[in-house]
Amino acid sequence: MITKENILEYLDEVKDPEIPTISLVDLGVISDIQIYENQEVIVEITPTFAGCPAIEYMRKNVEEVLLKKNVPAKAVINYNKVWSSDFITEKGLKQLQAFGLAKPSKSTEDLLQSMQNVECPKCHSKNTQLLNPFGPTLCRAIFHCHDCKETFEQFKTL
Ligand SMILES: [Zn+2]
Repeated sequence: MITKENILEYLDEVKDPEIPTISLVDLGVISDIQIYENQEVIVEITPTFAGCPAIEYMRKNVEEVLLKKNVPAKAVINYNKVWSSDFITEKGLKQLQAFGLAKPSKSTEDLLQSMQNVECPKCHSKNTQLLNPFGPTLCRAIFHCHDCKETFEQFKTL
């Protein structure tokens, strides 16, 4: 008998194609897992950013990894659900930092506030400034740290 816990464990292997240190599970995009009596498995993915070009790749990757574990599953993308950076797990936030990205702020903070207290992933200073809200990918913004003088990227708050 396959369980949701098994599936989540297997899916830990599926990493975000743009941030290979974080799994889709820790990114909080695996929004639902259904296991039917006939052992049919449906994994639902909620895209992080609408129009994120990596989503189809992620969907295929979920199916491939599960198939390798002898779990033929169907992965579907649910565009009606809204993902929030608050869904990223504690482990996921650490993995973002390990990749050199600043953590997103809590989405409950107001936007201006959340742009001002971004912690530098290199020296952990909060004396930082937004340089460009449009980073190299949709999900990242570019900041400058006044203490270590480095430029860094933040996984955007959403
Ligand atoms: Zn710094």
